Amino acid sequence: MKAVYPGSFDPVTYGHIDIITRVSGIVDELVVGILINNNKKPMFTMEERLEMLRESVKDLKNVKVQTFEGMTIDFARQNDAKVIIRGLRVISDYETEMQIAQTNRNIAPEIETLFLSTSLEYSFLSSTIAKEVAFYDAGVEKLVPPIVAKKFREKYNN
Ligand code: ADP
Repeated sequence: MKAVYPGSFDPVTYGHIDIITRVSGIVDELVVGILINNNKKPMFTMEERLEMLRESVKDLKNVKVQTFEGMTIDFARQNDAKVIIRGLRVISDYETEMQIAQTNRNIAPEIETLFLSTSLEYSFLSSTIAKEVAFYDAGVEKLVPPIVAKKFREKYNN
């Protein structure tokens, strides 16, 4: 089984890593896709996000990281993946995630969206929260991989 895990990853957090690690244990191959979204103004460039993710998952041999533009279902098809992975945190994720999953299933019925519930310790963690904690220098090391903490220091020190 091959799966894709799409997101902005601006930046990757331990919440994402938790999902990636757990999925890598149940699929043959996982392709993490960083979405190039021109409507969002990211904090980190595409190259930085790619570098941080690749470094953070380098020990997981069946995980690849790529960037993509456009619809997730096309990204899945290009990678010959039948499964889209999404992580579900608090209840507020549910509504939008259902909308996206239903829409995708309408367009591409051969592809299934699989939801993993977040591990409890990361259920309130988001990239936005990590940015806030890093901004106030309040212990972001607990929330993101070392390379991300380092990049935060570089950004905020400038
Ligand atoms: P998007 O911009 O698509 O929401 P994100 O990078 O924020 O992209 O998230 C990508 C995926 O990871 C989404 O399915 C999201 O629900 C999931 N995710 C984000 N943070 C966590 C977390 N702390 N625990 C579990 N899943 C998470």
